[in-house]
Amino acid sequence: MSDVQVNEAKEFFAPSPAGPSKGTIAVDMDDVLAQTNQTIVEMHNARYGMQPPLSLADFKHYLYWNNRGWGDAKQTAKMVVELCNAGLYGRSAPVPGAREGLQKLKDMGYRLIIITARGESSREVSEDWIAEHMPDLFDEIHFTGAFVHLAATHEEDEGHVARRAVLSHKKRTKAEICHETGAFVLIDDSAENVLHATLHSSPPVQCLLFGTYGWNASIPSPDVPIHPDDRALDDGGLTYLEKEAKGALGESEERWEEARKRGWVPDGVERVADWEGVVEWVKKREGKGEEGS
Ligand SMILES: [Mg+2]
Repeated sequence: MSDVQVNEAKEFFAPSPAGPSKGTIAVDMDDVLAQTNQTIVEMHNARYGMQPPLSLADFKHYLYWNNRGWGDAKQTAKMVVELCNAGLYGRSAPVPGAREGLQKLKDMGYRLIIITARGESSREVSEDWIAEHMPDLFDEIHFTGAFVHLAATHEEDEGHVARRAVLSHKKRTKAEICHETGAFVLIDDSAENVLHATLHSSPPVQCLLFGTYGWNASIPSPDVPIHPDDRALDDGGLTYLEKEAKGALGESEERWEEARKRGWVPDGVERVADWEGVVEWVKKREGKGEEGS
């Protein structure tokens, strides 16, 4: 089997008219097109009854298990699966201005694609959501399944010998997909994703870091060593609950606040607050004569 499965597009996909395109723009889905985290807050409170109730302000990190209200990586993945099964992706409202902004970009002659970390199992609900809220805009949608490996399978929960779900497709990073599709910019709300697409990808991918969200407000710069507690989980870092148990939450919050004040972003990343900001950025780029690259 090839690494990438291409499924027949549904009718809502709208290939650009023949003729030269000004280039391809890659767009993330959660919290760039759909207000996923806001919906998670509402569903999480209804289902798990956190006290005090969870709010969007609790989402200070992109990875949920670094925030209040979750468990370790596996427990978090299980909770997200529960929320997905309860209809998370179908009920999220669109991000204000997304449809209008995307329509402007398409009318300007750009090709639009979605690159989402959602997995294949979310394909149908995602396509239905796009058909309902943002039809006739996108040429392609790519599911990277970045978190699929974290979701415990039934067998794993029951201690079956087949401990791992087998993935039939090689995972691709968002930067790889930008390279393959020739996208000249990636619009994403994750500081981790834009860090990877710029500092850790060759060639680097120009990124717009979307939204004034708590989870992308603070980006640790490379000239400040990352505290061991704050490292990525698979690199020795701690979850929110582990920091709480160790009495290390306060110090971690201080480091988060210092990085936020420092305001560092990687080269090749610009912040945009909303969809108007995205359209402005693209127009400005055209003014510099960079279109078509
Ligand atoms: Mg996102």
